[in-house]
Amino acid sequence: MNKLELVVFNVGHGLSVALIERPENYVTLVDLGAETGFTPLKYLSLNMKLRPDVLFITHPHADHLDDVETALDARFSPLGLHFQIYDWQDVKKREMKDLAYKVDDFLKLQKQVSFRNYGGSARLTAWRYTPEGARKSFGETSYVNNSSLFLVYVWRDFKITIAGDLESDGMAGMVGTKTVQEAALSTDILIPSHHGHKNGFPTEWIEKMGKPYVSIISVQERDKSVDSRYNSSEFARGIQFNGETRYSLTTRKDGNIMITMWYGSDGGARWSFASF
Ligand SMILES: [Zn+2]
Repeated sequence: MNKLELVVFNVGHGLSVALIERPENYVTLVDLGAETGFTPLKYLSLNMKLRPDVLFITHPHADHLDDVETALDARFSPLGLHFQIYDWQDVKKREMKDLAYKVDDFLKLQKQVSFRNYGGSARLTAWRYTPEGARKSFGETSYVNNSSLFLVYVWRDFKITIAGDLESDGMAGMVGTKTVQEAALSTDILIPSHHGHKNGFPTEWIEKMGKPYVSIISVQERDKSVDSRYNSSEFARGIQFNGETRYSLTTRKDGNIMITMWYGSDGGARWSFASF
C-alpha cells in the first residue's frame, strides 16, 4: 500500500466507514449504515468500482445494518464478513418492531458470505466484550451497544480507531484495559463511540488514548445528543479543513468525508481532508 483512503459516509443516523488501500484496492467496510436514496455499497461499486473484501459489523443494531438488503444482492455483496455471535432472537426482540427484519436479513447474509478476518496490508485489531461479558458487566439494556467491536487500524504512522456504539461504561472499560489502551494510544483519527453521544464519552478516554488530531462523527441532523467537547482543542489537536481549524468533522455538517493518507518523497507522512 502506498496510499490509504478513509471514507466516513453520510448515512444520517447510522455508521458506515470504508478503509481503502491503494493501489491494491483492498477494502474494509465497517458497518452497513445507509440513508434513503444512498447506500455506501452501491456508491463503492458504481462510483469507485470497489467491493468490500471484508465487512465488519461492530454490533447488530438496525442503524449499523440498514444496508443489509444491498449486501444480499450478489452484485454488491462483500466478499467476507466479520461479526460476533449473539442470541439473535434476543437482539431481534430488543430492536424496534419495524426494523427487526434487518436482523433476519443479517442472518441470511451470514449464510451467503463467509466469515473472514482482515487480510489487507495494514494491521487491524478488533477488541470486544462478548455479548455475555457485556451483559454481565454493563447490564441487560445496553449489552448490544457495549459488545461493539472496538477497531484499531494501523498503517505505518497512521492510527485510526473506530469505537462502535460503546456506551460510557463500556468505553471506559475498553480503554481502561491495558492491552487495548496500548493499542489505541496515540490514535490520530478517532471515530468516537455511539455517534459522538454524551453517553459514550467517559472523560478518561483522552488520558488513555491521547489527543487525536480529529474526531469524525457520524450523526444525523436532528440528533441533539452529540457531546460538544469533541469540537474543542481540549479533546483534539485540530486539522485544517477548507481553510479552517477543526477539531471534529461531522457527517451532518460536512457530508461524506474522505481522508487521504500517503508519504511524500521526503518520507514524511501527509494527509488531506475533503468532503463530497
Ligand atoms: Zn448506532
